[in-house]
Amino acid sequence: MGILEEVRIQPQPLDRLLELISPERRALLRDAVQDGVSRFANRTVMNVNSTATGGGVAEMLPTLLGYLRGTGIDAQWTVIHGTPPFFELTKRLHNGIHGAPGDGGALGDEEHAVYRDVTHENMAELLALVGNDDLVLLHDPQTAGLIEPLKRAGAKVVWRCHIGTDAPNEWSERAWRFLEPYASTADAFVFSRASYAPSWVDRAQLHVIPPSIDPFQPKNDHLSAAQVHDILSYVGIVDSKSPPPPHFKRADGTTGRLDRHADVLQTGPPPRFDAPLVVQISRWDRLKDMTGVMRAFADHVSPTTDAHLLLAGPNVTGVADDPEGAEVLMECMEVWRQLPHAERSRVHLACLPTADIEENAVIVNAIQRHATIVTQKSLAEGFGLTVSEALWKSRPMVASRTGGISDQIEHDVSGLLIDDPADLTTFGAALCHLLANPDEARRLGAGGRAHVEREFLTDRHLLQFAALATSL
Ligand code: UDP
Repeated sequence: MGILEEVRIQPQPLDRLLELISPERRALLRDAVQDGVSRFANRTVMNVNSTATGGGVAEMLPTLLGYLRGTGIDAQWTVIHGTPPFFELTKRLHNGIHGAPGDGGALGDEEHAVYRDVTHENMAELLALVGNDDLVLLHDPQTAGLIEPLKRAGAKVVWRCHIGTDAPNEWSERAWRFLEPYASTADAFVFSRASYAPSWVDRAQLHVIPPSIDPFQPKNDHLSAAQVHDILSYVGIVDSKSPPPPHFKRADGTTGRLDRHADVLQTGPPPRFDAPLVVQISRWDRLKDMTGVMRAFADHVSPTTDAHLLLAGPNVTGVADDPEGAEVLMECMEVWRQLPHAERSRVHLACLPTADIEENAVIVNAIQRHATIVTQKSLAEGFGLTVSEALWKSRPMVASRTGGISDQIEHDVSGLLIDDPADLTTFGAALCHLLANPDEARRLGAGGRAHVEREFLTDRHLLQFAALATSL
């Protein structure tokens, strides 16, 4: 059995996206597609990353590649295999690039050997899938070692790094020093913000392409109020009397049935459906600061409001390249246990099932639609797709002014931004303010939706991708 995992891409019809956007945007996209189809007649667009589920990259690839496939372009997605020491190392690099120490471990000769060994093993198989003149997009630090050998095989190689920091420090410099020998030879680089690119990236080869969301995927597709109610009742996130399993629309248009429940840690019953609910949905990653959200809620929101807090993340076995997930969830559970009883009964920790990614997506969709307020109190953030997802659903947001979040939220227009993510008092006060002022919350939600419609839908992303491909 091979070590690479090929993820099946379901072709997506471009027509429904074209119907949603303005005539100007429609014309641009049509032209780009026509041009792309002729350029890629005999070429594959191969994407490589290190997990098929969990996180922003795994979220975007099926849609973007699905649209390419829908036009007839051979777009593929392959997931590399890694060992536990490899993923420990790449998590260290991930934290480092965000300017955080992570586990503080070494990045020396031994780590280079681990990195090269895993790269070498994957390369042996990948070479069979990539031909001369193919376009390969390698995503994130786990894949940078593949650049050089793929170029030797004749492919054009783009390295897309979805993370970065606006404030480089010793940790980010150290991580970039480790990656430079592998990554610096790419034919082009893609970052979500220009400021994320390290100094050794030639600015002429730099493309700034922020992520996007797709309105037609189970994560963002329309759900009626009744569907939201049934889904959340069934999975156990709101109080109800054991309803039957609800159905949902899959990306390919067929009907799926929700079978699995969420694992919810709470004392007493789940919140009533009509109780105000503050929500953060993230991977269990320290930089998402789930414990900070919990402390801020317990100290500054719960005493003066009747709101509940839901912190939801994936099942911790569900994200292959994130070895810290279980540890961070345990830390959250520990902080939760230490809350006074009254606060504890208003805070709910949920692990969402990941066995069927569309089932997971529709649960996330229902939670986001149901939330009174969505937060993303990240200490550092590459982009933060959860922000666009919530804004698309017109949810009022309170989030940190960090990384790509500041591109998605304009303070007081499309959400509230907190300058210092460690400032729990200000964060808590912003939540209380929106809970007490529903008109203002609605205004911000509407501002957020309009901003996402303009900037963060798939057509913009596809156009930028087309420009990148043309430049190569
Ligand atoms: N997500 C999910 N299920 C979960 C938790 C998160 O599908 O239980 C998704 C979330 O909806 C978003 C992605 O994971 O699409 C997280 O992307 P983001 O850019 O916010 O952060 P990253 O995880 O890439 O750091």
